[in-house]
Amino acid sequence: MEGDLFVVNASQVLTVASPGGPKRGAALRDVGLTVDGAVLIRRGNVAWVGDAAQVSELAGPHIPFLDAGGRVVLPGLVDPHTHLVWGGARLAEFEQRLAGATYQEIAAAGGGIVSTMQATRAASQEELLASAQRRLDAMLAHGTTTAEVKSGYGLDVISEVKCLEVTRLLGEWHPVELVSTFLGAHAVPPAYRTDPDAYIDQVVIKEMLPRVVRDERALPRNHTGQIRVYANARTHVALAEFCDVFCDAGALDLVQSRRVLEAARAVGLGLKVHADEFEALGATRLAVELGAASADHLVVTPPEDIATLGASDTVAVFLPGTPFGLATGHYADARAFVEAGAAVALATDLNPGTSPCPSMQFIIALACRYMKMLPAEAVAAATINAAHAIRRGDVVGSLEVGKQGDLLILDTDDYRDLAYQFGGNLVHTVVKAGRVVYDREAR
Ligand SMILES: [Zn+2]
Repeated sequence: MEGDLFVVNASQVLTVASPGGPKRGAALRDVGLTVDGAVLIRRGNVAWVGDAAQVSELAGPHIPFLDAGGRVVLPGLVDPHTHLVWGGARLAEFEQRLAGATYQEIAAAGGGIVSTMQATRAASQEELLASAQRRLDAMLAHGTTTAEVKSGYGLDVISEVKCLEVTRLLGEWHPVELVSTFLGAHAVPPAYRTDPDAYIDQVVIKEMLPRVVRDERALPRNHTGQIRVYANARTHVALAEFCDVFCDAGALDLVQSRRVLEAARAVGLGLKVHADEFEALGATRLAVELGAASADHLVVTPPEDIATLGASDTVAVFLPGTPFGLATGHYADARAFVEAGAAVALATDLNPGTSPCPSMQFIIALACRYMKMLPAEAVAAATINAAHAIRRGDVVGSLEVGKQGDLLILDTDDYRDLAYQFGGNLVHTVVKAGRVVYDREAR
């Protein structure tokens, strides 16, 4: 049967089970470890997980076996914050930064997000699809089985929709399951620099949002009353499930962010917020107030906002690839969030400017060194809690009966290697919904 698989002979099986919601506090350190374990997947879902000695009579003769060879088995990694789709490259800018140029100098010379915006607008959908697929292939090879993908480098209606369509097309066939987020409020494009509110209110809220959710009532029509947009607008399938804003110095202020998020919520989108990366503008409080699924970055969050977040259902997503990529040395204070009771998660923030990193393994290694997370905490933050950050906590992120059979076999006999090693790739095999989708030895 398609999606049937019996994974046996694992030195360790980590279930990261957390039936009552995301892991918080001391529960973060419990990865649900079974020594000499096995996992039975039927029709794509976990049917049994536990001690291998008990399982032989459960499987039956017709289930295909996968011998883990004494390696570690754990849930597929979930990357809940990426900017996967972009055009162009920022290599020259990277070199300029190494030579001492500041971010502001580079931006003033036409670099930064504006250069990526121009390259993304100029790229065809096929070109964007090809480059995004290469990055997604690398994510899969490094163990990511579910990922969130934001738009946000188009910054006009046609280009934002083009990027969201790339995510939709890729998600239809690629083994990595994608969750789409609309980030038209990533930055104010240069044409609106003197009147940013016009971009926020007219372009993002009035023009982009109805197309993203494919609200037919609000879509422009031609003289015969037919909808004057894309062929598949009739399907009613929204192009995104979440709406995100970049609330920070040099991007949107708190008032603009609130307007976008409230409008997105009103048309049924879930919410996410880029909060407190460079300056604390109150974005974390806003995320909690509006019931956002996550607040992300949180490098400069003040203690009272950490307490507010800790008492909420909003997941704290840390992106240590960004301060590493910028070499700022300033990382989020993960311990303060854990002590405040927050559900903490990790993500790559894969993007061309600050974190061109496809590997959640490297993010785990950074989190343990610079954010003082323990290996078990980082694994929970990269699996079950990351799944909750994109509202998939009941489907993926842990190996529990009834959830999707997404798992990794790692080339080690101790899961702590995932945090200890860095710069390499421990992934031996990736299984998505009971199907082997990556096998190092088959390459
Ligand atoms: Zn981001």
